[in-house]
Amino acid sequence: MIIKRCASDQAALSKWNVIAVRSTEDAPVGLTELRRSQNMRRMQTTTGLLSGRNGIVFGVANKRSIAWAIAQAWHEAGARLAFTYQGERLKENVEELVGTFGEGVPLYPCDVTRDEDIARVFENVARDFGRLDILLHSVAFAPREALEGRFLDTTREAFRIAHDVSAYSLVALARAAAPLMINGGSIIAMTYYGAVKVVPHYNVMGVAKAALEASVRYLAYDLGPQKIRVNAISAGPVNTLAARGIAGFTTILKHYEERTPLRRNIEPRELGLAGLFLASDMSSATTGQVLYVDCGYEIMGM
Ligand code: NAP
Repeated sequence: MIIKRCASDQAALSKWNVIAVRSTEDAPVGLTELRRSQNMRRMQTTTGLLSGRNGIVFGVANKRSIAWAIAQAWHEAGARLAFTYQGERLKENVEELVGTFGEGVPLYPCDVTRDEDIARVFENVARDFGRLDILLHSVAFAPREALEGRFLDTTREAFRIAHDVSAYSLVALARAAAPLMINGGSIIAMTYYGAVKVVPHYNVMGVAKAALEASVRYLAYDLGPQKIRVNAISAGPVNTLAARGIAGFTTILKHYEERTPLRRNIEPRELGLAGLFLASDMSSATTGQVLYVDCGYEIMGM
């Protein structure tokens, strides 16, 4: 790569050590073009990794959702996707987003605490796709009052709800999806470090994530003989709707930026790439694992 000065983007580029870069045709290009070519390169590398695969994504609420970042990576890699939404409140949002993937993307209602909703979703998947290859579980909920104050004060009901929505739902979805994964498959759940260490205010959600991570391991064991892999991604903090429900979330973001080995927070597209790795044959011998995508925070002792 040849570094060369280019007047047009000089102001924007002055923050960078690279002033301009020559493309392979030797023409000088600016920052915007450089970024575009990086994206193109990423797309070229991932294109086809999931071609011919059918997937379903649970947990898109809006464009900031982690599920949306992973869905975009799966879509770019060639997967055919279906989506679910929890209630009418979110339908329009999700409809608009999935519309960017083209016409006719299946979209089904599903509250993961309702067995009848789950059964209907997979009947629809069987009708629309026939076969299923990949599933993303990116769903969690705990009553707001349980995500502030002391864990000690968690009510029986808040404990039940958090575990039902955030952990048991993975078991229910995996059981319903498995018969459609006739060529094997990959199931991916989203978790957080609060499952293994105390993160103030994460409280009952940390306990539910511990149940989720243990469920990943037991499901991986049960479904392994069917060539279905089950893994979780433990993400560093991302500013989403669910995250904003945790008291002091902005402090957590700042803390990570200062303390991770990479001295920054993660970007949603990096979760997309990790999701792509776990969904594709690149991880064909990996199951029952929790993959940390957190700029290295998990290795720190102090
Ligand atoms: P998000 O955009 O708010 O996504 C959470 C999703 O869960 C929403 O679509 C939400 O729908 C859905 N949901 C809640 N209750 C449900 C139910 N009963 N049935 C069906 N769907 C339900 O937030 P996110 O941060 O992307 O969260 C996705 C996953 O990543 C969660 O498992 C979360 O714990 C995990 N995670 C997040 C972070 C972070 O910092 N953001 C870090 C590590 C792990 P409604 O909006 O309708 O409730």
